[in-house]
Amino acid sequence: MKKQSTLVLCLIGLLCVLTAVLEALGKHCGSDKKPYDPDTQGCCINPDGTGKVTDKPENTNPCTLNEVQEDLCKMSSAFGNKVCAQYGRTVCYNGKKVGCVCNCMGIQNAALLACIQAHEDEHAKDDNLKCADCDTKKPTPQDQNIDAQNHCVLYKKDRDCAKAIPGWEDNPEIRVFVENAIFLLRWNSCPE
Ligand SMILES: [Zn+2]
Repeated sequence: MKKQSTLVLCLIGLLCVLTAVLEALGKHCGSDKKPYDPDTQGCCINPDGTGKVTDKPENTNPCTLNEVQEDLCKMSSAFGNKVCAQYGRTVCYNGKKVGCVCNCMGIQNAALLACIQAHEDEHAKDDNLKCADCDTKKPTPQDQNIDAQNHCVLYKKDRDCAKAIPGWEDNPEIRVFVENAIFLLRWNSCPE
């Protein structure tokens, strides 16, 4: 009886060690998938050489982080970061781009939320946008002209996506979104 229970404990212990090793090996930082470093957890390195812990299990969705929802979505410093500045945000996380919806806009319509997410997902796929480090900053456009052209395409998609939602004209939040997209198309002198 004693021998059996020792064997079971040993097996459980072995499984736990094995799981921990596999979990550690599975963690990586960004697209280059550097091996997991237990000292920094995230193995990401800031420009000043310090490690940045960004891939703790509780931080797996960067869109829920305060630094994204508060600092980036409410970026208007003139109003003490109280004003919601964007419908969405593409952020860098562990060197990868992630498209986020800004909750501060309070959008309720699920189809409109999908339009906003689609805009940010396009940025996340855009090779012209590069992440410089491990912070949840905005990725940097490599070529500003390409970025402007891409945005003209996206503002049109925003407008058309929202106008394709049945009953959009009777929904104030969708109407405002459409007007905003039309304003941005004009403000940026986008070709029709
Ligand atoms: Zn955009």
